[in-house]
Amino acid sequence: MASLQGKTALVTGGSRGIGAAIARRLAADGADVALTYASSEQQAEQVAAQVRAHGRQALAIRADNTDPKAVADAVARAAAQFGKIDILVNNAGIFRAGSPAELTVDDFDATMAVNVRAAFVAIKAAAEVMPDGGRIISIGSSLAVRVPGQGMSIYSASKAALVGMTQGLARDLGPRGITVNVVHPGSTATDMNPPDGPHADWQRSLMAGQQRYASPDEVAAVVALLASPEAQAVTGAAWTIDNGANA
Ligand code: NAP
Repeated sequence: MASLQGKTALVTGGSRGIGAAIARRLAADGADVALTYASSEQQAEQVAAQVRAHGRQALAIRADNTDPKAVADAVARAAAQFGKIDILVNNAGIFRAGSPAELTVDDFDATMAVNVRAAFVAIKAAAEVMPDGGRIISIGSSLAVRVPGQGMSIYSASKAALVGMTQGLARDLGPRGITVNVVHPGSTATDMNPPDGPHADWQRSLMAGQQRYASPDEVAAVVALLASPEAQAVTGAAWTIDNGANA
């Protein structure tokens, strides 16, 4: 039997990249999957079709993370469709880079709204409809732990904030057997960070392990492990998958 048989999941930012891979992987492991997107409706529907190809239910929901109400409504819609949410993956994120002179207060606010506030809003809403033993996993970044170059102050701050929030929520929700963890990808081949981009060789040069980008599927595999019953003892943790860039 697939390890997530009978489970339901909500993945934010599931239309592309890491989130799409997570949605597909959770479905392959047996879960029904709802996914949100900001604007890529067609790609979100394609991922939903891939979920259904695994014999699972799927639901694609437009919900911009900058709007807290939209995020809470997306959780409510997924819960209404599936009856519960066992697994919440806060994946949607944006990356705005620059020096302090280049970055604006709007960049700061937008990054915090999408990468941090929306995760809290989703967790707050999902915790209401999550059975005991549920799973909350947020996608952080290896840049939350170590910042190896210039221009990443706001993004790194947002991902570091997820660590503190994860630890606090692990305490709050632990009595219900709900685990709360953060996964820190390093360089992963997506639209956000293409492996042929201008900074890709520099990123590869930082790696202690194989000097290559991870695939979204490799990140999804780590998320799937944390979502599985086998990971009940893992909570308040940050797992890095970065080919050793932070070693
Ligand atoms: P991506 O290819 O740019 O995809 C981003 C996803 O998030 C898309 O589904 C997008 O939806 C959604 N999204 C963006 N802004 C949103 C908003 N305001 N509201 C709702 N959804 C929104 O990015 P990715 O590389 O897969 O990144 C996924 C996560 O991993 C992010 O949290 C990112 O910070 C993190 N991460 C990535 C890397 C990397 O190297 N790629 C490394 C470390 C951490 P639309 O398609 O509708 O725009």
